[in-house]
Amino acid sequence: MVHGLEEETGRRDLRFLTLLTWTEVLPVYQLQKTTRAWCPGCFQDWRDHGQPIYDPLVRTLAPVTVCARHRRPLLTICPSPECRRPSPWLGSRSRPGHCARCGGWLGSPGTESGTQEEKLVMEDAVRSHAWIFDALGELIAAAPGIPKRPQRDDVLSGIEAAFRLAALRKITIYRGSWTRYLGLASGTVLMWRQGRTLPSLWCLLVVCSQIGISPLQLVRGEIDEDDWAAAATKAAADIRLERPPIQHTPIDPVAIRLALEAVRASNELPPPSIRLVADRLGQTYANLHHYFPEHCRSIASRHRSYQEAQGARTRTRLRERVRDAAIALTQHGLYPSASRIADLLSDRNVMRSRTARAAWREVLGELGWQR
Ligand SMILES: [Zn+2]
Ligand SMILES: [Zn+2]
Repeated sequence: MVHGLEEETGRRDLRFLTLLTWTEVLPVYQLQKTTRAWCPGCFQDWRDHGQPIYDPLVRTLAPVTVCARHRRPLLTICPSPECRRPSPWLGSRSRPGHCARCGGWLGSPGTESGTQEEKLVMEDAVRSHAWIFDALGELIAAAPGIPKRPQRDDVLSGIEAAFRLAALRKITIYRGSWTRYLGLASGTVLMWRQGRTLPSLWCLLVVCSQIGISPLQLVRGEIDEDDWAAAATKAAADIRLERPPIQHTPIDPVAIRLALEAVRASNELPPPSIRLVADRLGQTYANLHHYFPEHCRSIASRHRSYQEAQGARTRTRLRERVRDAAIALTQHGLYPSASRIADLLSDRNVMRSRTARAAWREVLGELGWQR
């Protein structure tokens, strides 16, 4: 699509409005949010100052959940009480700054609201997200200046270099323990090194923040090891001296906690399960549970209540469909039999559900049909 649009418009830079530069090195899985996320303060400011209103590319990235400028969480649900729906990033009715569903304006003045405590929590979130913004912003900003698209091999050599660097910086000195330190699922790192999978953006952030390099450096395979050559000799000597770490070294990597907090702060729909979150971070489920029980509990409970509410919504919708079908059939002088309702709803199995049968019996009585 992008190439076609570039051809038609004669512009060669439209690809930089997308993540096309990074397709070979960033797995699509869990890379971007599935629905649009925006800051109402940014939209409002841009409109007030007559500036172009747009959706910054960095905000499509899943780990970005806060606007650092306005110290507000990004929104994903239309605030209009009659709407309350998420928008696609690009839909046939999309308009910059407006809800793609109801067309309402999504900007609002950046008024300070919330309790003192909520503000403190937000301050904290903004501070801890600063690194994520900068690192991902750098990645996006670098794209136009890169002569050729980074390839799989670049990121693989980046990972190898990161491992050596990690060893030199004494994050670990034993093969495998670095993995344990980050709490990465066993096999995950091996798969990367063998080139069988590539780290998700979330994993990349975890690894980079731990080693102290930027994701841009890692995906371009540009890790300068010269500065560390001197340290190598000393580290090599240390390797022989130190004992292997204990199996269950407590992990408390900042990035994992940040990622969990980002998940908690986001209003991602549907709320992810802990297993999905563990998968995103390349962590084991058990490890996350062991070291971040509070985070896990709140993420899990939000997932559960959403699932339950979703179930209730599905049942309500089903009830309404059965009722509507029965009423329509009656209006046409037909007895609303189970098979007629199923035909009308084009769903052969619809009347097998207990909810549907209950709704059917109820509406039969209301419509005065004797059974
Ligand atoms: Zn903003
Ligand atoms: Zn709306």
